[in-house]
Amino acid sequence: MPATQLAADARRTPRHAIDISQLRKTYAAAGQSPPKEALKGVDLAIPTGSIFGLLGPNGAGKSTIINIMAGLVNKTSGRVSIWGFDQDVNPRQSRASIGVMPQELNIDPFFTPRASLEVQAGLYGVPRSERWTDEILELVGLTAQAGSYSRHLSGGMKRRLLLAKALVHRPQILVLDEPTAGVDIALREMLWDNIRKLNARGMTVILTTHYLEEAQEMCDEIAIINHGEVVARDTTRELLAGAEGKTLVIDPGDWTGDLPPLPDGVTTQRRPDGTLALRYAPLQMQADQIIDRLRSAGVPMVDLQTEQPHLEDVFRQLTG
Ligand code: ADP
Ligand code: MG
Repeated sequence: MPATQLAADARRTPRHAIDISQLRKTYAAAGQSPPKEALKGVDLAIPTGSIFGLLGPNGAGKSTIINIMAGLVNKTSGRVSIWGFDQDVNPRQSRASIGVMPQELNIDPFFTPRASLEVQAGLYGVPRSERWTDEILELVGLTAQAGSYSRHLSGGMKRRLLLAKALVHRPQILVLDEPTAGVDIALREMLWDNIRKLNARGMTVILTTHYLEEAQEMCDEIAIINHGEVVARDTTRELLAGAEGKTLVIDPGDWTGDLPPLPDGVTTQRRPDGTLALRYAPLQMQADQIIDRLRSAGVPMVDLQTEQPHLEDVFRQLTG
C-alpha cells in the first residue's frame, strides 16, 4: 500500500481526528505527594488534516492529554474519541489510528533501527506485505544507520527513530510530545520537514511544545493549556490577531549606554544582532512615546522598525 493512502479510507474520515470532552485526570497520591489534579475538564476537537499545537508551560498537562490519547495513562473521567472511535468502546481501533512519539528517549539499545521497526510492526500486527520499513527509514534519514545498533546512534538519530516507530502502522494521526526539546537547529529543521511531509500526505499531526516560535511556525491551530485547562483555542492566525504586544526594534549602531526610563509596561531586550527590542502594548501607548524618550536621552537610532505580535504575547497574557 503506498504511503499516499495513509488516510485514504475516505468512507469514514471524521471531521475531527480527535474529539475530547470533559476530560479529567487526577494522579493518585504517591509517597509524600498529595493527589494531583492534572486535567480539570478539557474539551478539545482537533480537525482532521491539521497540524495542531498543544502549547503550555511545563506541568500544564500536555503530556497527560497525549498519554491518555495514546492509551498509556488511564483517564479519571471524560470521553476521548480517536478517528471517530470512542476509546472505551473501540479501544483497538482507536489505538490503531494513532501513533505517538513520546517525550522520553525509550529505545532498545540492542536493536538496530530496522529491527526496532520490524518489532514494532509486529506488535501492531502489521502483515509483512504491508510493512514500509525502508520507506520510513528513508523518510527520517536513517537509511545509512539501518543496521547499526541503536546504542551507537546519536541523540538526534534516536529521536528520529522514535518518530519512525510511531509510523509503522500507518496511523491517521501522529502525535509528537515535545519533538524538538533539546535538539539542535539542524535536527529541528529536519523534524519540521518530516512533519510537514507527513501532513501533506494526509496525516493529522498533533504536537506539544513549549517553544512558541515552533508553534507559530508549524501549527494551523493551537490550544493553550494552563493548569490543566484549555485557556485559548483558535487558529494561529486569529490568536496572533488578538494579541496585544508589538515590538519596536531599534538599531543603535555601536552605542552601548544605558537606556533611559521608558513608559510603564515596556520590556526591553538586547538581541544577539545588537538591536534593542522594546515590547509594548499598542492599546496603551504609541511607538512615538517610546521613540521620544530615546531621542531625548540621546540614544542613536540608525534604523528602526516595528514587529507584529508574537505568540509569546498571547501566551503571556493568558498564562501570566
Ligand atoms: P506537561 O506535559 O504540560 O509538562 P504533564 O502532563 O506532564 O505536563 O503534568 C501535568 C501535572 O501532572 C504536573 O503537575 C505533573 O507533575 C503531574 N504529573 C504528571 N505525571 C504524573 C504522575 N505519573 N504522577 C503524579 N503526577 C504526575
Ligand atoms: Mg510534557
